[in-house]
Amino acid sequence: MKTFLFALVGALVLTQGLLSAPSADEGPGTATILEKPLAAPAAAPTTAMQVDASIQPIVLAGSSTVGASKPHYITTATIKPRSGKGKGARLGSATRGYKVWGTGKTSTGYTQIRFLGRTGWVRSTQLKRLVVAKYTAKHSTVLRSKANGGKKLATIGRDHTLGTVDNARNKSRSRVRVQFQGKTGWVALKHVKKASPGKTVGPGTRTYPDAAWAKTVSKNISRYCPRTTVRVSHRKNEYYAQSGPRSITLSRVGHPDPNAAPVKAVALHECAHIMQFKAYPKGFSKLVRHAEKINPRRDGYGIEHLADCMSDSMGAKRSGRLANGSTYYTGYHGKCSSAQKRSAAQLIAGKRPA
Ligand SMILES: [Zn+2]
Repeated sequence: MKTFLFALVGALVLTQGLLSAPSADEGPGTATILEKPLAAPAAAPTTAMQVDASIQPIVLAGSSTVGASKPHYITTATIKPRSGKGKGARLGSATRGYKVWGTGKTSTGYTQIRFLGRTGWVRSTQLKRLVVAKYTAKHSTVLRSKANGGKKLATIGRDHTLGTVDNARNKSRSRVRVQFQGKTGWVALKHVKKASPGKTVGPGTRTYPDAAWAKTVSKNISRYCPRTTVRVSHRKNEYYAQSGPRSITLSRVGHPDPNAAPVKAVALHECAHIMQFKAYPKGFSKLVRHAEKINPRRDGYGIEHLADCMSDSMGAKRSGRLANGSTYYTGYHGKCSSAQKRSAAQLIAGKRPA
């Protein structure tokens, strides 16, 4: 069976060198559109040492010499640390939103911090404690009131990510102190695993078996692409649409939640290709030429821009922010021209723009 492929460049992740150019060879038969990798979410914000660009650049010389067991704070007001509690030498100032390490000492409403390589005191009300480490529950576990047991404070569900402001351990190092829904308590280390700093504190994504993941994706595109088989790939960044049998293949690597916006956006982009296939069942060289003609970039990926424009009007959110605060981007290039939008609308209506 004759197959033609469209191999694509990445918008953010450049894979141009790895993929072949769009094939001119085309005819009745099957078509497969291979996709560029879905751009990985931008690095998630870390709680450690990330400072707003708007804040004056002060180097925290003390930051590298303290461990995660020391308290980490963000300032809630402008601080003017002094060598003593409300008296002594002034060490400088830092604005609200600045992150500092504490020494662990507090006294009568004051907290001792490391500031520009020195030790100083600020009002405790001007600081808010930050999470210094995160843990995800491997299975359902119990939050206990004491380091070596105590009473049960809460049940923590499997996959829930917990934050800790001190990462304190008990003597036998079998438990860690964490915060959970406003409570502070202890969990067994054997029931949790260390999580990355960018992970969102809170319940985890429901663990979907592949079949359920595919079914959910299929449901999310059914309005435009009913009865389209969704195949789950376990290869990173594998996304494509196939004309016969009509199916789409999506990688779920890094995308555990089938309802996450980037997954929906990619699924709708692939659904757009299915609609292109439907409108041009005998091969769409005409559409490819038309798409390139109305592609302001003239980069050979007009058909892809068109699929993006179609996905836009089907409700795809091609860029945005994830629950953990990181940003994502899917698709090829930015905005769609009015000509591209017009052609996209025709294709969605089952008509041929060319
Ligand atoms: Zn595509």
